[in-house]
Order: sequence, then C-alpha cells, then structure tokens
Amino acid sequence: MIKCEKCGKEFEAKTSHSFRMETCFECQKKKLHEMYLAYPVEEYTGQLFFANGEFCQNIEDFYELCKRKNLNPDEMEIVKAQKVEFPELDIDDFLCDYVNTEESDLPEVIIEAAEKFNDVVKKYNQSEHGYYEGISIRIKLPAQNAKTESR
Ligand SMILES: [Zn+2]
Repeated sequence: MIKCEKCGKEFEAKTSHSFRMETCFECQKKKLHEMYLAYPVEEYTGQLFFANGEFCQNIEDFYELCKRKNLNPDEMEIVKAQKVEFPELDIDDFLCDYVNTEESDLPEVIIEAAEKFNDVVKKYNQSEHGYYEGISIRIKLPAQNAKTESR
C-alpha cells in the first residue's frame, strides 16, 4: 500500500517497469475529468462523437447507451469523433532500407500490390464509414442542456 499524493488515502499501487502511480484511482479519475472539462467546447450540430469512450452516431445512440449501461446522460464525457485518414504507401520509401531503389527497379508485382493498396486507402478515405478516434474537443448535446435547465 502507498499513500496517495493528492488525498492521502492509502491504496494498492500497481507498478510496472516504467510507470508508478502516485495517486489513487479516484484522484486519477478526477484529474482526467478536469482535463476533459478544459477541452474547447463545440455545440452539437450532428457531429459523430464518443460518449464515455463509446462511439455514437447520433443522439439516439447516446440515449440507448445511457439506458443500456444505466448512466446519467448529464454525467457522460462526450468528445468529438474524427475519422482517421490513412496515409498512402510510398513503396520506394518503404523499401529503401532493403533495396537500392534508385539503382534498380522494384519487382512489378510489388509495385502493383502497392498501387492496389493505395487505391483501397483512397477509397476508404473518401468513404463515409471508417475508423474513428476521439479528439480533445467536447461536444455539448442540446439534450443535455435541456435536462440541466429543467432541474
Ligand atoms: Zn487520492
């Protein structure tokens, strides 16, 4: 057991080689929430978002999530979701540590495979669905405002 640097409570420290927790779970949670509250805020206008780490496409998804997990909508942490754009592969650059691409041409099949890969990446980047990640922007849902105001 070690003492939390913040609140003084004793807690079971989980240690690893590179990282030692100096504050208890509650204090860490509190700190993360404070960081979240410090993010810039955007009004909700249909953006995709994450609520407590779960991807939501719309408000209906959000309420469904709250209901399913029995969570208070006003206490959810909501951040903007941003689609990850995958980079295209520069095959010469990718393989330059293995072959001297300036002096000899790469095998045709390798070049073709890279072109196919890049076609897939291009299509993916242009498509609507994809891989999303949460970014450091808070989304303010209108439904949340209404709930808070009606109290
Ligand atoms: Zn603590």
